[in-house]
Amino acid sequence: MQAVVFNDHGGPDVLEVVDLPVPVPGASEVRIRVEAVALNHLDIWVRQGLPGPPIPLPHLLGSEMAGTILEVGSGAAGTGLTGPGGEPALRGLYGDPIHVGQRVVLAPMTSCRKCEYCLKDLDSLCVEGYQIFGYQRQGGYAEEVAMPADVCIPLGPDDDPILWAAIPLTFMTAWRMLHTQAHLQPGESVLVHAAGSGVGTAAIQIAKQAGATVYTTASTPEKRKKGLELGADAAFDYSDPGFAESINELTGGRGVDVIFEHVGSEVWEQNLKILARGGRLVTCGATTGGKVTFDLRYLFVKQVHLIGSYMGSRGELLKVVEGVRSGELRPVVDRVFPLSEAADAHRYLADRSQFGKVVLKP
Ligand SMILES: [Zn+2]
Repeated sequence: MQAVVFNDHGGPDVLEVVDLPVPVPGASEVRIRVEAVALNHLDIWVRQGLPGPPIPLPHLLGSEMAGTILEVGSGAAGTGLTGPGGEPALRGLYGDPIHVGQRVVLAPMTSCRKCEYCLKDLDSLCVEGYQIFGYQRQGGYAEEVAMPADVCIPLGPDDDPILWAAIPLTFMTAWRMLHTQAHLQPGESVLVHAAGSGVGTAAIQIAKQAGATVYTTASTPEKRKKGLELGADAAFDYSDPGFAESINELTGGRGVDVIFEHVGSEVWEQNLKILARGGRLVTCGATTGGKVTFDLRYLFVKQVHLIGSYMGSRGELLKVVEGVRSGELRPVVDRVFPLSEAADAHRYLADRSQFGKVVLKP
């Protein structure tokens, strides 16, 4: 079985195409033929090495997978992924979701499901350890994987695994940021940074679905055009020093209610100029750097909220799945690489020339 692993942290060249034994599912697991696995910037950071406990080496990256069940562990029958109250995904739509031949998309993570946070649908605060596939646990850069049956979400036989692989982590993260953390309301205004990123493409759609006015940023005219096509009401170049003033003009000097942030230090000062009084800045990343400064007097006088957000929960993922099923949300896939070209796919993602997701096809 072909897989892509790394044995040492480093640049894209540490990714090696290897032959691994076919995985054997444990009692509560299923063996899955991976039909698509999507990239995230997380893959690049994990490959380069992140602070914190060491990850298992050799390591398989890949948090977002879709594929078909090939083998079911002896105790793995069940409903697949359930929400915090035990409600199954897409109840009754496809019968018993855990059987050989069933196409599935996988939740990108596991958690204990019994601590105080998991019981409140706050999985990413799990005290027992929230584990992301491809990061703290082995991921999906392989032709086959063994995964817990209870992270499987059933798909229909005609559902495209490439599109579905581009959804779970990306849309769940954006959903949590806008709905759960920033409490976005109809009629409010949102600035979504980096329209061309996976979470950016998701956030524009989720914010429009919520009834908000959406401003976005992107580095090239082509990406700004695509951001508008996705539903944004106006698009800006965040490297233009005048972009904060332009947004403020559009809002009559008021600023925006919510800033969807994952860019980091490069846009921080501009963000503070754009955020309305009492506004909420929600962030899930710092791709251009995590060290920023601001004046506490700004925080308390303008009564703004700075909110952190990390990944998401089973309940949030199930809401995303409903939104995709209903056609209101759709993944944006920029390019598909063969699994064996994972290193090139990493270089492509690192260059930030993509609009939407980069997907590997084993
Ligand atoms: Zn927990």
